[in-house]
Amino acid sequence: MTEFRRDPITGKWVIIAAGRAKRPDYFKKEQKQGDVVVSCPFCPGNEDKTPKEIRVDPMEAGQNPYWRIRVVPNLYPAAGIIKEGLERPQKLGLYSTMKGYGAHEVIIESPHHNIPFEDQPIEHLMLLFMRFKERVIDLYKDDQIKQVVLYKNHGREAGASISHPHSQLITLPFVPDDLKEELNGARAYYAKEKSCIWCDILMQEMRTNLQIFDETGTSIVRADPLKERVVFENRGFVALCPFASKFPYEMHIIPKRHSHYFGNFGEKENFQEIKDLAEIFKTVIKKLNKALLGIYPESVPYNFFLHTSPNLKFRWNEDKFKTLEFDFHWHFEIHPRTSIEAGFEKGSGSYINVVAPEIASKELRDAPLEIQPSV
Ligand SMILES: [Zn+2]
Ligand SMILES: [Zn+2]
Ligand SMILES: [Zn+2]
Repeated sequence: MTEFRRDPITGKWVIIAAGRAKRPDYFKKEQKQGDVVVSCPFCPGNEDKTPKEIRVDPMEAGQNPYWRIRVVPNLYPAAGIIKEGLERPQKLGLYSTMKGYGAHEVIIESPHHNIPFEDQPIEHLMLLFMRFKERVIDLYKDDQIKQVVLYKNHGREAGASISHPHSQLITLPFVPDDLKEELNGARAYYAKEKSCIWCDILMQEMRTNLQIFDETGTSIVRADPLKERVVFENRGFVALCPFASKFPYEMHIIPKRHSHYFGNFGEKENFQEIKDLAEIFKTVIKKLNKALLGIYPESVPYNFFLHTSPNLKFRWNEDKFKTLEFDFHWHFEIHPRTSIEAGFEKGSGSYINVVAPEIASKELRDAPLEIQPSV
């Protein structure tokens, strides 16, 4: 039984997913037979250990395994898949509660247990990003879904319970708090400046030797070095360490083409855009592993997630999304899990980041790649 509960003081929603703690920890008991891990529910031969596929990309006929990417419902859903329709929040005195309507899906990225995301060929990653996009478009056809949260946990420290490469998505009947803050900030910026803040951030970050003025607007305090926080760029995307990074080596991957909605990505068969996203992801994760090789000899634990527009067809949308198409700009965020949130972060919601983004971006830029990507 899953239930959404709203905190009466902060207005934040929490998902109460009783029973989810019982999900097994597959890391403990990996028995390998060549490339296949016998106990892994995502390895070929174990397809019956997951619920029936929502979507499968087949291999060429007669090949084994028969699939390249599988999308399946999560066996231990956090957000619940409730058959009956979404109901408006109910009041319990001060409290608000809502039944857990939604979906929780797993995207099994490849049949290979030991080939991580960043070592997949570009063509395979392109297919994966297309599947991400299709799932978002498909789920947004349901007017009871307000937001898709698509994410990946890599490594135990990042919350993965199965090491087989996979990503997940959860749908919500509300906009979660971090995204809500971005939406509100973007809308307020647009109301004042009549432009998208991500487009303006890209312009500022990519500009040559931007001059910085003091508050009176006259004297130059210092000149920012060229593209100081940029880690990598190609035709379609920029990966940068944000000016106010919360975590060491935090990176955002921002499309150069303005669009509020990930569903518009790679539209009209824009294969170059899909290829660019696959390439930049592969490059920056490889660079992250290289830069932190001394601390994480295998790979750096991280989460990545998509920030995209809420479903504009949601049945109870208020009219506050009027300028969203112009003010919001979809992007991915990569948060390496090199530090844990401690008392200060928990108690304040503020973060102490011990690696300045300008240092992190330089280390990542300088981290060599074995194979230079083709742009
Ligand atoms: Zn596996
Ligand atoms: Zn924009
Ligand atoms: Zn974001």
